Amino acid sequence: MKRTRIVVVGNGMAGSRLAEELRRRDPDGERLDIVVIGAEAHPAYNRILLSNVLAGSITGRDTRLKPDGWWERQGIDVRSGVRVTGIDTAARTVRCDDGTGAGHDEIGYDELVLATGSRSFIPPIAGAVDESDALVDGVAAFRTIGDCDQIIAAATGGSSAVVLGGGLLGLEAARGLLMRGMDVTVVHPKDFPMERQLDPAGGAVLTRVLTELGMRMVLGRRAVARDAENRTVVLDDGTELPADLLVLSAGIRPEVSLAEAAGIAVDQAIVVDDLLRTSAPRVSAIGECAQHRGEVYGLVQPGWEQAAVVAERLAGENRFATYHGTANVTRLKAHDIDLASMGDISAEMHCSHSEVLTLADPTRGRYAKVVVREDRVVGAVLLGNPDVVGTLTQLFDAQLPVPVDRMSLLIGRGSGAGVEVASPATMPGSAVVCRCNSVTKSQLTTAWKAGARGVAAMATETRATTGCGGCSSVVQGICEWLRNSDPEPRDQPAHETPSIEEEGAA
Ligand SMILES: Cc1cc2nc3c(=O)[nH]c(=O)nc-3n(C[C@H](O)[C@H](O)[C@H](O)COP(=O)(O)OP(=O)(O)OC[C@H]3O[C@@H](n4cnc5c(N)ncnc54)[C@H](O)[C@@H]3O)c2cc1C
Repeated sequence: MKRTRIVVVGNGMAGSRLAEELRRRDPDGERLDIVVIGAEAHPAYNRILLSNVLAGSITGRDTRLKPDGWWERQGIDVRSGVRVTGIDTAARTVRCDDGTGAGHDEIGYDELVLATGSRSFIPPIAGAVDESDALVDGVAAFRTIGDCDQIIAAATGGSSAVVLGGGLLGLEAARGLLMRGMDVTVVHPKDFPMERQLDPAGGAVLTRVLTELGMRMVLGRRAVARDAENRTVVLDDGTELPADLLVLSAGIRPEVSLAEAAGIAVDQAIVVDDLLRTSAPRVSAIGECAQHRGEVYGLVQPGWEQAAVVAERLAGENRFATYHGTANVTRLKAHDIDLASMGDISAEMHCSHSEVLTLADPTRGRYAKVVVREDRVVGAVLLGNPDVVGTLTQLFDAQLPVPVDRMSLLIGRGSGAGVEVASPATMPGSAVVCRCNSVTKSQLTTAWKAGARGVAAMATETRATTGCGGCSSVVQGICEWLRNSDPEPRDQPAHETPSIEEEGAA
């Protein structure tokens, strides 16, 4: 039987997940010939964890998504350090360049999936790039493991850094540099940081928290130039800030050049339908390079959900598998700052169709806003309030009814209400507990059954809790529940935990 050749362009978080999902549906490789082509020289890694690498809590090697040799053992043909330079949608081939100057390779496909992600937006700052548009020495973006290495090499204690952009990534970079002993200034064009995830009141509390940690926040300003000689950054009001290092974290742009050149429809990103097909026959797109129902996501969860949908379709399980969109939950992964944001928090206090609950304790760096509509959480922001994040995330994700005592949403377990809905016993097996590493309750249960008896052992087996750490209390709760419901340890060696949940487990 002729195998279907599926070529995936991009060995990032969505592309590698797709390859894994496809192989899971054809474990012996009888039907699917999977080729993954990735421009980065590294094996697939968890990009989310780069903030932890920058902060020095883990190494680049710890970010690898799979152990050495895993892809070969799965019979997946991974070509790292190879860039796809063209697509011929009529001949169904892609052109590849391995950068060695040895010429171009052509690879044929039956199905092509674009998972080219995004690139950092480089704002127009005089002196930041050379004549070939490459960043000059002392200026770095924050997107790849290569960027991270470059920043770490330049981050010497006592020297100064300016981070452009007070969004999630900018703040994570700034916190990491602060922890490396640098003098750090964040320059952000809006009146408060993380304006996409926060409201002004929450933004003011976050600014205070960051300032108290030692970060200088310059808000409502843009950088216009970098002076290499004086090692400064010049702002639009003429202020000069010391900057031995300038980190650009001013947003991302979907990587669509390949699709555009091939005549595939592109708007803000590559346009896909509910089956995640592009305008070209037999070409799909997933992850940050895809635009679905007008939405372009900048988080990993949608890409992983899209990978599962495309795998279902291309592996012949369900030719009409559809994607319906993903509800976003964002967590700031920065030491000493606990911030989670989900859904739509734009409703005002006296909104007639929503209940808006708020709590502000700026002196202690705490702020919470929860928006409830028809007894469901439609949005929330929680700063300095880690105890309620797990419960609220579960309520939001599963759209479960909220407790009658609404205050418990803001103050958590202490109130004695609202805990039950998110108890491990009632949580579905498919609930994602650790978003950074995409670990479900089922996987934790499987790890427990394989001998992982505690949070540390679960972390080793599944990587849960090793990202932002925000799921630690939920993992702890699952351990307690399993200890009570499955008290007898089995003499069974721990084995490699399947990285995709076993359907129906738990
Ligand atoms: C520091 C950092 C922290 C983050 N933290 C979070 C977080 O806490 N939570 C969250 O949900 N998200 C977070 N994100 C975002 C998350 O990493 C992305 O949403 C996710 O990586 C998107 O996956 P992707 O596969 O679409 O793109 P990517 O992971 O960027 O992969 C795309 C790959 O395609 C390759 N490529 C592009 N063009 C070509 C070509 N022509 N030929 C071959 N290969 C090509 C690229 O080199 C890249 O390796 C973070 C990102 C960063 C940088």
